[in-house]
Amino acid sequence: MATYEYLCSRCGPFDVKLAIGTAPKAYGCPVCAGAARRVYTSPGFTSASPTVAALHEREERSRDAPAVVSEVPPGRRVPRRPHPALSRLPRP
Ligand SMILES: [Zn+2]
Repeated sequence: MATYEYLCSRCGPFDVKLAIGTAPKAYGCPVCAGAARRVYTSPGFTSASPTVAALHEREERSRDAPAVVSEVPPGRRVPRRPHPALSRLPRP
């Protein structure tokens, strides 16, 4: 199975899962049942959210121009509790 992307002129893009090599040039839109034409996009990036796209772009940029930091980024420290099994161990 492969995911093919179609574009309906009224409803926008949608994905269809079909067997490899069986995708027709036009497919019925699931919303309006009109003919939607097949479109070609980069594989794996069809449904990337803006956040994921920004992170991917930042990661790509770090290859040539990595960000330099002078200290550890501030973050919320999670208090560490000892594992419950440790309380059952024999004490000296
Ligand atoms: Zn439609």
